[in-house]
Amino acid sequence: MNITELTVHELQQKLKSKELTIPDIVRAYIDRINEKEKDVQAFVTTLTDEANKQAKDIEEKVSKGEINGEFAGIPIGIKDNMCTKGVKTTCSSKMLENFIAPYDATVVEKLNDENIINLGKLNMDEFAMGGSTEYSYFKKTRNPWNLNKVPGGSSGGSAAAVAAGMVPWALGSDTGGSIRQPASFCGVVGLKPTYGLVSRYGLVAFASSLDQIGPITKDVYDSSLLLNLIAGQDEKDTTSSDREKVDYTKCLKNDVKGLKIGVPKEFFAEGINEEVKASLEKAITTYKKLGAEIEEFSLDVANYSLATYYIIACAEASSNLGRFDGIRYGYRAKDAKSLKEIFKKSRSEGFGTEVKRRIILGTYVLSSGYYDAYYKKAQQVRTLVMKQFEKAFEKYDIIVTPTSPTVAFDIGSKTSNPLEMYLSDICTVSVNIAGLPAISIPCGVDSQGMPIGMQLIGNKFCEETILNAAYTLEQKIKFRENYQPTFKGGAN
Ligand code: GLN
Repeated sequence: MNITELTVHELQQKLKSKELTIPDIVRAYIDRINEKEKDVQAFVTTLTDEANKQAKDIEEKVSKGEINGEFAGIPIGIKDNMCTKGVKTTCSSKMLENFIAPYDATVVEKLNDENIINLGKLNMDEFAMGGSTEYSYFKKTRNPWNLNKVPGGSSGGSAAAVAAGMVPWALGSDTGGSIRQPASFCGVVGLKPTYGLVSRYGLVAFASSLDQIGPITKDVYDSSLLLNLIAGQDEKDTTSSDREKVDYTKCLKNDVKGLKIGVPKEFFAEGINEEVKASLEKAITTYKKLGAEIEEFSLDVANYSLATYYIIACAEASSNLGRFDGIRYGYRAKDAKSLKEIFKKSRSEGFGTEVKRRIILGTYVLSSGYYDAYYKKAQQVRTLVMKQFEKAFEKYDIIVTPTSPTVAFDIGSKTSNPLEMYLSDICTVSVNIAGLPAISIPCGVDSQGMPIGMQLIGNKFCEETILNAAYTLEQKIKFRENYQPTFKGGAN
C-alpha cells in the first residue's frame, strides 16, 4: 500500500481497521516530503520533527481512549497566510520573513481541536497576489505534472503539495481564484466556499470583501470533510454567517438527474484554449447522459469582471497593507533616519514588485480625483455581476465553466507581463465578486498530459449542490485512478 496516495477518508478507514497507526502515516508523509520537496519546492516551513513527536503523543492518547476524534493524527499543510501560533507566517514576503503569529487563525484552531497534525506552511504568491506562485519571495514552486510548469497561484504550494502526495490535503485561500486555479493546474480538487461560510479570522487580509479560506484535496469526498471542519460562524469574524451547520458528506448522492446546468457562452469564447474547451464539452455531455439538463445562456457582465476585480482587490489591498509600516511588526529597514524614512524604506525593501504594483494601483483608484471613475464604477459593476448571477440561479442549479482558460504554463512565461498573468483569472474572479461558492475538479488532461480543470459555480450557500455534481462526475471520470503526476522535466 502506498500511504501517500490515499485520500483522507481512506486513511481514516485504515486507522479504524488498525491496518495503519498514526506514526505510520506521518512517517510516510515525512519520507515523501524528503523525497519530493527538492523538486517541487512547496513548503516555506516544514514541521516534520514536531509532526513526528505529535504523531506518537496522539497515538498514545488514542490508544488510551483519551481522545477519539475521527481526524486525530491526520496530517495537513496550511497556506502560509494563515496564522499559526509559534510558527512563522510569512505570506511568502520579505516583509513577514520572521513573523511569528501570537495566535492561531480560527480555521487552524479548529484543526488543532481535532488533533490534526500540521506538516508545514505552504508557499504562495506574496500576500496571495498572483496566479503562479512565482511571486513568492522565497522560492518558485513547481508543478508535479511537469516541473518546468507553474503550479498556479496563489495557493500553488498547497495544490502542488497535495498533488505530489506530500500532504493528504491542505488549506488554501481564494480572493480571485487562488484555490481553484492552482487546483486545476495540479489536477486536484479546490473549493472556494460562499463568502462568510468560513471564518477569515487570522487569515492575513488581501481584499477582505473577496477573501475566503477553503480546502484543496485529492477528491470531492475529502473536500466535503474538510469543509465540515472549517465552516461555521465565528464571533471574531463579523462577516461570518450564522447558518446552521450541515454535514457536507451527506449530499454526495452520485446522481444529477434533473439537475439544471447553465453554460455561459462567454466562458467558451475566444481566448479559451481549444483542448480545454473540448475537455469541458466532453464533461458537459457526460452530465447530459447522466440525466442533467443543459442550457447555454449569456452572462455578459462577466466580460467586465476582470477589470472590476482588479480595481476592488487592489483598492482593498492598498488599505489592508497599510499596516506593514516597519513600526508595528514585520520588516524594518536598518538605516532609516526619520519616521517617514522608516515607512518608506521598510515598505520599499519589504514588498516585492507585484505587491507594490497593487498598492499603487489601489491608492490611485481610491484617490479623490479618480474615485468616481474607477472605484465607485467598479462597485456599481459588482452589483450588476451579483444581479446577473441571481437571475441565472433562478433558472439553473449550477453554472459550469472552465476553471482557467489554459492549462499550467511554463515557469517564467508570464512574469514580465502582468496583464497576461491577470488573464489567467478570467474564469474565476466573477465568483468572488458575487460571493458565490465554486469548486474546481479535474476533468481530463491535454495532449501534453497536463490536467484540465472544470469549475462548478453554485448559488450562495449551495455548496451541497456543487459538491454533489462534482462528486457525480468524479465517479464517472475517475481522474485519480487514470492519471498521476509524473514529475518530469525540471532542467531549468
Ligand atoms: N490571481 C489573482 C490575483 O492575483 C487571485 C489571487 C487570489 O485569489 N488570492 O489577484
